Amino acid sequence: MQKKIDFRSDTVTMPTADMISAMMMAKVGDDVYGEDETVAELENKLSVLFNMEAGLFCPSGTMTNQIAIKCFTQPMDEVICDQTAHVYRYEGGGIAFHSSASVRLLNGPRGILTPEMIAPEINEDNIHYPNSSLVVLENTVNKGGGACYTLEQIAPIAELCRSRGLKVHLDGARIFNALVRTGDQAGDYGQYFDGISICLSKGLGAPVGSVLLGTKATIRQAKKIRKAFGGGMRQAGFLAAAGIYALDHHVTRLAEDHLHAQLLADALEEAVFVESVMPVETNIVIFKIAAGYTAAGILDSLNTSGILCGAFGPDTLRFVTHLNTDAGQIARAIQLIKELKP
Ligand SMILES: *Cc1c(COP(=O)(O)O)cnc(C)c1O
Repeated sequence: MQKKIDFRSDTVTMPTADMISAMMMAKVGDDVYGEDETVAELENKLSVLFNMEAGLFCPSGTMTNQIAIKCFTQPMDEVICDQTAHVYRYEGGGIAFHSSASVRLLNGPRGILTPEMIAPEINEDNIHYPNSSLVVLENTVNKGGGACYTLEQIAPIAELCRSRGLKVHLDGARIFNALVRTGDQAGDYGQYFDGISICLSKGLGAPVGSVLLGTKATIRQAKKIRKAFGGGMRQAGFLAAAGIYALDHHVTRLAEDHLHAQLLADALEEAVFVESVMPVETNIVIFKIAAGYTAAGILDSLNTSGILCGAFGPDTLRFVTHLNTDAGQIARAIQLIKELKP
């Protein structure tokens, strides 16, 4: 039997043979003692690339996001983000748990916020109100079907936040997908954000890890919080080497994932069981199931035919393209979608 085509997430990728070689060759040391040169190289590489002062390698994107939120808030503060935000929906209630902060949810189209949406939600100084201290943007927006911000959209948000004394954090789990799509330069990002979280284990195809970028002072504080979260790792250079390899070899190829996502979306548009498909911007395809079908039922039929995907609500499914879904698999998936009799 042929192997199933796995569109559940871009986290399911396996390291390539060359990536594994790079990992095996890594020079490592105890990173809690600051002695792992490969971890230092990864942190430095990304901070230079994004024009930030310093970086911190962590086990997950949830940890880099939650550390950033802890750095940029005090208990009783309020975090402003879109209602689709990963930091709010998919991080186990971490904002309340770790930072004792409340959350103000906005409703941007496909999770994309504007200064006009944010400005009225920033609280005045008043004993009744929580102190608005942080805005979190997500680029690309996972639950927004991979929609992305351009820097032109980000600049006025950052300006508003700075003028009102708020910090701005970027959940850039898929920031390289956004960069490849928009043509914006990574180096232009640093000026707008107090923190940037970047996942190596999504589209970049590394097995583990995320990096938090910020000022030297922020990263010093973040390192202490990482320790308290239990995220200090010892010979982590083996993992960091995979990240370095991915940054050198797996960024420009993201355009291929975006093309594949568009091809899948085109096929889904034609399918009887699909009501509508969110316009594709990057590597995520979210589609709504037509009346008379259920997402669970379609998920089962797809699975039986050889396609794995994820449910994203009672009538919504998600496909994510990645390093391990090559052109042959995309062609086969399109054929299977055409032939599916749910
Ligand atoms: C995957 C993801 C994260 C981090 O997830 P981890 O599994 O903890 O690495 C953060 N934000 C977004 C938008 C994501 O998709």
